[in-house]
Amino acid sequence: MKVTRIAYSAQLNPGKYAAVMEQARRLGRVRSEVWQRYGSINGVGAGLRDRQVRDRWLADGTHALFGVLANAWKETVRDAMADIAASLAAAKVDVRRAISRRTSDPAERQRMFTALKADQWASDPFLARQMRKHWRRGRNRTHDQIVVRADKYNTALDGRGRLWLAIPGLEPRKMVRIPLSTAVAPTGTLRLILRGGRVEIHYQVDASQMRSSQRPCGDATVGVDKGYTEALTDSDGQPHGVQLGELLTRESDRLKERNRRRAKLRSIANNAALRGDHAKAHRIKVNNLGTVKRDRQAARHRARVRTEIFTAVHQVVDKANAVIAEDLTQRFTGRKNLPKNINRRLAAWTKGVTAEALRNVSERRGSALVHVNAAYTSQTCHRCARFGRRRGDRFHCTSCGVVWQADVNAAINILHRAGDPDIALHTPHHRVKQILQDRTDRHRTRLPVQDSSPATAGRRANYPNCSAINNS
Ligand SMILES: [Zn+2]
Repeated sequence: MKVTRIAYSAQLNPGKYAAVMEQARRLGRVRSEVWQRYGSINGVGAGLRDRQVRDRWLADGTHALFGVLANAWKETVRDAMADIAASLAAAKVDVRRAISRRTSDPAERQRMFTALKADQWASDPFLARQMRKHWRRGRNRTHDQIVVRADKYNTALDGRGRLWLAIPGLEPRKMVRIPLSTAVAPTGTLRLILRGGRVEIHYQVDASQMRSSQRPCGDATVGVDKGYTEALTDSDGQPHGVQLGELLTRESDRLKERNRRRAKLRSIANNAALRGDHAKAHRIKVNNLGTVKRDRQAARHRARVRTEIFTAVHQVVDKANAVIAEDLTQRFTGRKNLPKNINRRLAAWTKGVTAEALRNVSERRGSALVHVNAAYTSQTCHRCARFGRRRGDRFHCTSCGVVWQADVNAAINILHRAGDPDIALHTPHHRVKQILQDRTDRHRTRLPVQDSSPATAGRRANYPNCSAINNS
């Protein structure tokens, strides 16, 4: 497994930055062309690989339109095709869910899953409709990146101990030398991202080399519930990542205040422009409405939240060799669909990071991550399984008369879902509610538990109520 490392340029002169930016802009046009031609339903029908795309472009002369070196556009085509493949895979996750909802016949499901996997959904009306719904036509939004293959760049230390990265420019054999703020040389394929006068060099390192990957995992099975105040609460009642809520609240307050001030400044600038005072309007735009500082603050905040969440997951894995959790990747397939409201946007993004951390840390440290259906886990009592009331961070069970800490109660319910014979990962919400109600009703009327139907027995044998990501 790989993890991403980022190195930064240090005091890069504006001339060089402009030169690299120009290259990134031209490569952005390459990306747009790839998306335009192959990023739609029709494009995939052709089933092209990036090598075939390159051969076609070489044959019909498309490559000559961009004014960049051969290796640069070829790598960019490969990268853009990979982006398209990722967006397609994300859409298929939604379509698989739709298939599960549509039919419970195993043969029919299997037929549709297979057709979907082989990209043969065009002939099936239901699959074609679902694909059109979930795989919206994408377009390229990346105009600030350069991908550099491992054999196309080099790094060197100068006399003062500064590390320089040399990458190909727009002319053959004319390298652009970028001073770095680190002494650790980046390795493998590089992705240069240009932001606010600075170059970020993203590259991948093998996670097994990281110290945190060597940490052994525990031996318990632990359920976790995702929170807002803390990153995770486990089924032992322990909170992890307790700073998260404060980090998010502070950031949300800061953003609201900053957006208010920027809106005011923008209206002053607009009024000045209307009066004909273009110098003033320009001054405000340049000095007060810039994006460099804003973007760096945002990046710092993201880094802090990520650290908090990853630390929390590490703490859970310290004691667990199996982590039971809700599948947090649901309804979070792309960063483009984040809501406008600041709080909800932060919450949605945090959920994505938590999902990533659970997956990443479990895999690196060799514990199993088991996804379960979390419907109603925060609304039922873990002791008597009846519905209760949740108020803030407390859960009140009217039938036991006990008040639980809401997140702990949910985490225990999630833990129990891993062994639940009736509630599978994709069992719809209303079915889950019905099952839970039937159980408490049976309890009330003292009827024996009926779970010997062949369907249930089969399901239990296959243990499909969870999807395990297990690397031993
Ligand atoms: Zn209860």
